[in-house]
Amino acid sequence: MKHVIVYGNGPTKEMMLEIAKRMKKKPVVIIIGESNLKVDEVLSYEEVYDSKKAIINLDKCDRCGECLKACQKGAISKLFKVNWDLCEGCPACYYSCPLGAIDFKIVKSGEIRVFISDGIPIVEYTYAPWMNRYVFVRHVRDIAKRLATDENTWIIEEGWHPMPWAFNVRVDGCDDSEANLVLGSGCQPPSLKDLDSVVRELEVMI
Ligand code: SF4
Ligand code: SF4
Repeated sequence: MKHVIVYGNGPTKEMMLEIAKRMKKKPVVIIIGESNLKVDEVLSYEEVYDSKKAIINLDKCDRCGECLKACQKGAISKLFKVNWDLCEGCPACYYSCPLGAIDFKIVKSGEIRVFISDGIPIVEYTYAPWMNRYVFVRHVRDIAKRLATDENTWIIEEGWHPMPWAFNVRVDGCDDSEANLVLGSGCQPPSLKDLDSVVRELEVMI
């Protein structure tokens, strides 16, 4: 199994489908963010619930402000609403509340849909800002690997921005430790007009 990561936004999706179509002689699986690709057959759909978020019951809350002081993430507004983009589900606000007005909820963090488009298996994902992307990307890649028909299958994956290792682990441009090839330089997508050279580069490797 070979793994290509294409970095960038917008035009990358068109490019990936085009690359996959041109590589039809070899088995290909695409991993892609939310797209408008034609769906010929849905193979599976999964909702991922893995994030705990605080909820304030405003009927119980007397607006004492203790939770606001306790939250180190600035996730609680002056109207005592919790911003889930900032909330990390820690128990600080919960323990600070004298009235037991705070509870937690496991919320949806992502969706994964697997479908066939023009004969090509597509693993399409969406995720909330609070998603643990490091875990999610492993899960999505595992699904793609299960779709691979044999060891010659190419997985073409849209680069995830920002990836945890994009800033922490990655040492050489857009290198990704799981990838055999990374397209796009300086984390910019290769331009559509360069598609022929992109496909040529891939074909040389096959
Ligand atoms: S759970 Fe933690 S991060 Fe979330 S609102 Fe409460 S104190 Fe803030
Ligand atoms: S600590 Fe409890 S009662 Fe006080 S403002 Fe926060 S939720 Fe309301």
